[in-house]
Amino acid sequence: MDARSQFNQPIVSLKGVGGQTVIRLEKLDIHQIRDLLFHLPLRYEDRTRIQQISQLRAGDTALVCARVVSCSISHHGRRLLNCQISDETGLLNLRFFHFTAKQHNNLSANTLISCFGEIKEGYSGFEIIHPEYKIIQSAEQCITQDSLTPIYPLTEGLRQSILRKAATQALDIYNSTADELPDLLPENILKHYKFPSLNSALNTLHAPAAGLSTDNLLGTNPALKRLAFEELIAHQLSQLQRKSSDKQWQAPNLIESQQHSEAFLKALSFKLTQAQQRVIKEIVVDCASNSPMLRLIQGDVGSGKTVVSAYAALLALSNQYQVAIMAPTELLAEQHLRNFSLWFEDFNTQIAYLTGQLKGKKREQILKDIADGTAGIIIGTHALFQDSVNFSRLGLIIIDEQHRFGVNQRLALRDKGQTGNTKPHQLIMTATPIPRTLAMLNYADLDISVIDELPPGRIPVITRAIPADRRDEIIAKINAWVAQGHQAYWVCTLIEESEILQCEAAEDTAQYLASSLPNIRIGLVHGRMKAAEKEKVMLTFKQHELDLLVATTVIEVGVDVPNSSLMIIENPEHLGLSQLHQLRGRVGRGSTESYCLLMYKAPLSHKSRERLNILRETSDGFVIAEKDLELRGPGEMMGTRQTGQMQFKIADLERDADLLESVSEAVTLIQKHHPENNQALIKRWLGSTTKYAEV
Ligand code: ADP
Ligand code: MG
Repeated sequence: MDARSQFNQPIVSLKGVGGQTVIRLEKLDIHQIRDLLFHLPLRYEDRTRIQQISQLRAGDTALVCARVVSCSISHHGRRLLNCQISDETGLLNLRFFHFTAKQHNNLSANTLISCFGEIKEGYSGFEIIHPEYKIIQSAEQCITQDSLTPIYPLTEGLRQSILRKAATQALDIYNSTADELPDLLPENILKHYKFPSLNSALNTLHAPAAGLSTDNLLGTNPALKRLAFEELIAHQLSQLQRKSSDKQWQAPNLIESQQHSEAFLKALSFKLTQAQQRVIKEIVVDCASNSPMLRLIQGDVGSGKTVVSAYAALLALSNQYQVAIMAPTELLAEQHLRNFSLWFEDFNTQIAYLTGQLKGKKREQILKDIADGTAGIIIGTHALFQDSVNFSRLGLIIIDEQHRFGVNQRLALRDKGQTGNTKPHQLIMTATPIPRTLAMLNYADLDISVIDELPPGRIPVITRAIPADRRDEIIAKINAWVAQGHQAYWVCTLIEESEILQCEAAEDTAQYLASSLPNIRIGLVHGRMKAAEKEKVMLTFKQHELDLLVATTVIEVGVDVPNSSLMIIENPEHLGLSQLHQLRGRVGRGSTESYCLLMYKAPLSHKSRERLNILRETSDGFVIAEKDLELRGPGEMMGTRQTGQMQFKIADLERDADLLESVSEAVTLIQKHHPENNQALIKRWLGSTTKYAEV
């Protein structure tokens, strides 16, 4: 078999790769020889040079060539083989906890050895625990390698040496048939951003030349950056492609009905803001077109996104289509149910409410209403995804709080409403402003509308940072606040991600507050309560039968109680700015002055102080999001760790944040001058996962 045809062969054709190894490599998503090239080392070891003992630093891994000075077994606590070696510049200790008598004998005084391992600071100078070592006859045998040794990520049962051998073969094949894996980034782009060619990048990363530092290779080396850059470009291209392929789908023509619109607007208890009207116009245009709308509405908390989405719903209903509204939590779904019930009271249609809680006959009835078209408006949670849910004539899907659903979820729901080559329109609402650079990466397939104006009369929330040791003062403030007829929230947050711990903390806090505030009616909501229980507490709070609501971050979205105008947030220093801003958005909904007290644990780090200050100084969600991006990096901001929304092979949004701006530029250039590379780039980086790139 010549090398050329080998390149696209399954890995089994490599020497030393068969049976179990194939299965294990496949677990790492390595199927073809070429896949090995994109499986990058986690770190490197340097066996390219012999280091002098006097030059060693703790933490280095080093290759040393030296003579045994002494070797003995010691019995302090644990049996231990202790071997001292010297290379004339200094002494180094080798320690073995597991050893054989033969080893002991072989390491006799004056024996020349080469050894390799991590240098540690020991009791008596530097040491290596369990070094790799070899007895040699002359210093020349202290074989040094030509390049740094890559250490690859493994999977259970897979040995480093096997993977390394496979990767070396793959690199050799690649180097002899480089055109089998063409460089998909045009030369002028590489030149412009000072990136190396694909060939040079892959060689640098798999077999770095002696002298390169490991930190550099894992961080800022252009070889790594170039691959991340290419991957990010591929992701953005795939979204843009999805967007353009959407054009081939038909969508229902939803034509605005003058009569319905007038009635709808007249029945509202307020006048729409300029921004709301502008976004509605954009939606009206989209929905009247033949291809499916895919639009994201970004608007700060309280900017009035819901009513805009209701207007879109009206378009569907006016044209005898159904509309599905999906929210991330039951609390939020229930609130939409209340709003939509009110706004569509005079509209002759049935509203179906579907959550996971719903069981038995009631559920069957609702599913039937959805399937036969009796229900015009369908509101629910993830439950709307279930296979048993079938729509009769779905014309529009509204998704609230997009960032909690993955890209694939939103597309899956749309597929559900597909009939023939017609797909429903889709409107997505999010209160998390997405900085432009990130939007290009993760939402490039969406059109974006921004509601950049709050309804009139909103008074900005006064935000203060107060150390937790003034807790009693704050509790006294709650007392006075409630005495004036107001309500308040107390939000418990924990550093740990554990929901159980969060809920326990909230329970403890509620108890503590109940004992210090005996005259105040206190309620508790947390994530481990049943939805019905939660809702009951929320409703009681809304009806002002409770004064203080102790909650975990479950109240982040959707809670709307205008009379609750004081919020205390514990441990704010551990939350993202955007999340804090979302929480804070629960107050400031009424006509009285509102307060948000950030109760931090002193002392605050400089960075934390800076972050909390931003929150005090501005109530503009976009400014806050940009700062959040600057201070925390994009990975955390998008909450990708939790949702796994963006999965990259090589790119790391934290490390590669500096690339985002150029990625968008490069994508534009590639689309314009090298459109022939689009498909290949997407295939290389997204491969089979581009289920939704339907071209
Ligand atoms: P969000 O954008 O955070 O989802 P909502 O849609 O829940 O905001 O709206 C927040 C509150 O503002 C609701 O009580 C809603 O009825 C009200 N509202 C929406 N638009 C206007 C407006 N133009 N004028 C006054 N109040 C409005
Ligand atoms: Mg909302």
